Parts: sequence; structure tokens; C-alpha cells
Amino acid sequence: MRKTFIAGNWKMNKTPSEAVAFAKELVVSLKDSDTKLMIAPSMTAISQVADVIKGSNIILGAQNMASVESGARTGETSVLMLKDLGVEAVILGHSERRSIYGESDVLINEKIKLALSHNLEVLFCIGETLEEREAGKAEEVCFSQTELGLKGISAEEMKNIVIAYEPVWAIGTGKTASPEDAQAIHKAIRGKIEELYSKEVAEKVIIQYGGSVKPGNVKELMAQPDIDGGLIGGAALDTDSFTALANYNK
Ligand code: PEP
Repeated sequence: MRKTFIAGNWKMNKTPSEAVAFAKELVVSLKDSDTKLMIAPSMTAISQVADVIKGSNIILGAQNMASVESGARTGETSVLMLKDLGVEAVILGHSERRSIYGESDVLINEKIKLALSHNLEVLFCIGETLEEREAGKAEEVCFSQTELGLKGISAEEMKNIVIAYEPVWAIGTGKTASPEDAQAIHKAIRGKIEELYSKEVAEKVIIQYGGSVKPGNVKELMAQPDIDGGLIGGAALDTDSFTALANYNK
């Protein structure tokens, strides 16, 4: 019922010319994939990558956006600018934004509401740190981030929300949550969505897993009943591995 969604977060990698060359390869290598696919280049490459992937089966995503539409926000990027470039989705609440740039749940909630009001699909990231996991607080942290991030968002708007569960200790570290551990948290998050909205909303919402997903572990992760896709960092940066992830079911 839920279509698997594989998204690549390129982070601060690839110059615009490298991004264009890479996107051209992906358009060819991903054309027969039957999963939903997204790539999120850096802001400086978005415009050119948009031209390359136009008409392909790849959705154009951004890695972040400002919480207001315009004005005195030096260095920020507006939702209006992203929409104008053909961006269809945006990653919000990534752990690197939370930990390095101090983004709070309140700010993330403001960004999510703004993105939804402009019809962008939102990949809303949540996840616990190692310290929180070891203290037995993984669920508590994910529930709190979910509740605060989705505050004021209607059941109707949930159609444009994808939740990306990314345990912080697994991002870029080579450590992956075991499929069983990841499944347990995904199931709990879906339960939280049911509590906040309804069974219908919970059954429809896509919950991606993120944290060192690679061709070697993707099948097992995707086989879990509540894991509906992946938000991929490192393995999204080369054609062979991202293609293998996109075609994990072939
Ligand atoms: C990410 O940045 O969202 C991520 C999951 O990175 P990686 O796949 O490199 O762990």
C-alpha cells in the first residue's frame, strides 16, 4: 500500500558542475526503478540539476529552507525561491541542522508549516542520539520531536509529510540500527501518528529509515513492515550505490 521512497541527501558535496554530471548519470541509471526517488543537491546546484532531471522519474529536493518567506535573513533560502526553481520537496529537521546550527523543534515546526502551505512535500527528520538511546530514551525523544514538529499540522496536510527516522549515532558512522531495532521504533512512531491523528493517517504515512543505509543492508531494512524507504547520505553520492539502493527490490 505504501510506495517505497528512496531519497538522496547530497549534503555539502559536489560542486555545481560535478552535480550536473552526476545527475545526468542518475537520470539514465534510475530510469527503470519502480521506487519513488528524490535527490537533494546543495543550494548552489539546484537550478542546474533541476534542468537535468526535468521529465525524469526523480523528484527534486532541497536540504533546508528558511522559516519565513522573505526579508532580512542573510544567507538563507526562501521557499519562494525553491518553488521557482521547481523544487518539490524539502528535508527539514535533519540532525545536522539540529546539532550544528541549533535548530529547535519550534523552528522546525515553523519551517514545516511554511513548506506545507506552499505545497512542498516535507521529509521531516527525527531521531535520538547515542546518549539518549543508551539512557533508554529513544522512543521518548522521537515522540517528543514528532509531536512538536507536527504541532498545528492537519490530517489533510499529513499527506505531504514523510517522516525520516534517523538515529543520530548511525548517520555517517557506518553503524546501522539492526533491522529489528529500526522496525521497533518505526512501529512506535506509526503508533504515535495514530494517537495524534488516526489509524488511516498512520497507515498512509511513509516512514523512511536513515543512517548508513547501503546496498549491503538495504534489502533487510526495507523488508521490515514499518520501514517504507530510506534517506541516504554517503551512499547517495555515487551512481552505482544509489542505483543499487533505488533498485533494491529487483
Ligand atoms: C543522512 O544524512 O540523512 C544520512 C542518513 O547519512 P548516511 O547515509 O551517510 O548515514
